[in-house]
Order: sequence, then structure tokens, then C-alpha cells
Amino acid sequence: MKVKIEAAYYHDNAGNKKPIEINEISKEEYEEKYKGHLTCINNCKARIRFTQKTNGTKFFSTWNHEGELHDLDCPYHVAYKGKNGRSKLKEYYHGIKIDDDIIARRLKDWMSKFHAKQNDGYVEKSDKYNTKTISEDKEANDMTFADENGSEQGRIPNLKYKNAQFVSDDDIECIEAIWGYIDNVQLVEDKSQSIYGYFNLKTKNKTINVYFPEAFYENEDVGSVEEFKTFIKKVNRMVTDNPEPVMVIAYGAIKKKRKMGLNINVISPKRIFVDGKSYYDILKM
Ligand SMILES: [Zn+2]
Repeated sequence: MKVKIEAAYYHDNAGNKKPIEINEISKEEYEEKYKGHLTCINNCKARIRFTQKTNGTKFFSTWNHEGELHDLDCPYHVAYKGKNGRSKLKEYYHGIKIDDDIIARRLKDWMSKFHAKQNDGYVEKSDKYNTKTISEDKEANDMTFADENGSEQGRIPNLKYKNAQFVSDDDIECIEAIWGYIDNVQLVEDKSQSIYGYFNLKTKNKTINVYFPEAFYENEDVGSVEEFKTFIKKVNRMVTDNPEPVMVIAYGAIKKKRKMGLNINVISPKRIFVDGKSYYDILKM
């Protein structure tokens, strides 16, 4: 799936950068002012160019040979699209083993930074297009993690935060942190005794659910299935009682749903934050 680029960052000569939408640029202005001064809206290094066809259609594209300068999780990153790309990306994600407590801290930090940024009023324009809001995660780079054998020490790669709007089939089997807004909450207790819950996210194109399978409440950090049900019901109340959209961030493997759309499989209570609150905070509400 080729993702259309609708905005870029413009770097002026004074060293400031600001988001600019494609419709704000004319051919003449591009040649005069913007050429060579536009980079990816997701804070990647890749430079962006502007083209206007004779029929007036405008589009942004990545400079030749700079497709790989988009970060791995950027939807404009070329090397990781397509079949080979997907398996490469899966390998990358599966190679990362991060402790659940660290994940919890990162998700919580991300949410509070995001809220702070939103209150600045600045984030809105650029964030419409962003797949990740906090791209620099310096602290994480300084922490160590165990590899698959649990023996070697290394550096934790940044946790990548992706907007649910940009989750696509290319993400299947990847393990990612996805953020979005909850549209509705469902708790399913079917006749065959299987119990699961999910949050349906507000998305334009694809159905994206934050999904809580049995593995979630079987996790040693969850008290009981009743506790899990209480959590789901409380989140449902947060969503139905709140006139503002309620934000969620979840970390898990992206799986294809039986019928259509994609699930983010959450298997630990430390991998989910709703409106800045942890699983445990929500139980106490
Ligand atoms: Zn990019």
C-alpha cells in the first residue's frame, strides 16, 4: 500500500521548522523557497519534494534514494513495504524483548507527553499526519535488555508509537505500540464460555480493535476474570460518560481478525493505558 504524503516539515533559514500542507504550496513558491527545505512530517531525515502536474495535481514524494531515511515505523519507509519488507520488519520487532514494566513506563510517559503537547495547541496540525509523536526516546536507549537467550546485554530500541489510522496489513505479525481514540467497548461472553473484550477504535479506513484475549486475564498480573470484566466495564463507562474522545495506547502483536480488520492483541495489563491511566488505576476508579 502506497501511502500518500499530505504534509511535510518546512525548515526555514533561521532553523525553525513548521508543518506545511500540500495545498499551501504553489509551484513557484516551491522552486523559490521550499525546495531542499522539506522533510518528513514524522520527523524522519528523509527529504520531501513537491511536484505539480500540468493538470494542476500536486503531490509530495520522497527524494530519490532517501526512502530508507524514513524511520522503520514511518508509513513512507520504502524498504519495509512488500513481502520481503514485512518479514524483515517482523524480524526486527520479534528481536526486541522488552520487560513489561519498561513497556508500561514508556506508554505512560508517552501519553503524558502527548497530552502536554496537545495543550500547547501546536501539535494538532502536524499530528494529523503523524504516526509517532514522540520520536526521541533517549532514556530508553540507555537501558539494557536481554536478548532471546536472556544472556547478552544490549540497548533497547525505541518503542515505536503508531497512529491507529496508519495501521495496515503491512503491520500483521509486528509487535507495536498503537494509539488512537476509543469508539466503543465490547465485552463478549459467548456460550462456549470463552470471554474476551475489545475496544473498537475510531478509524477512517480499516477496523482496528484493541483486543484482550484469554491470555490477558490468564496473565499472572491479572487477579481474576472477574477483575478483567470490571476493567472492561469501567473503560466502557469512561467512554460513554466522556463527551471528549478517550485516548488509548496499547502494545501488542497485530493480528488479522476473522472477518475483517486488525486486532492489537494485548496480553498483559502493563501494556495498556487509557486516558493516561493504567489497568490498576482504572480498577480503583
Ligand atoms: Zn518518514
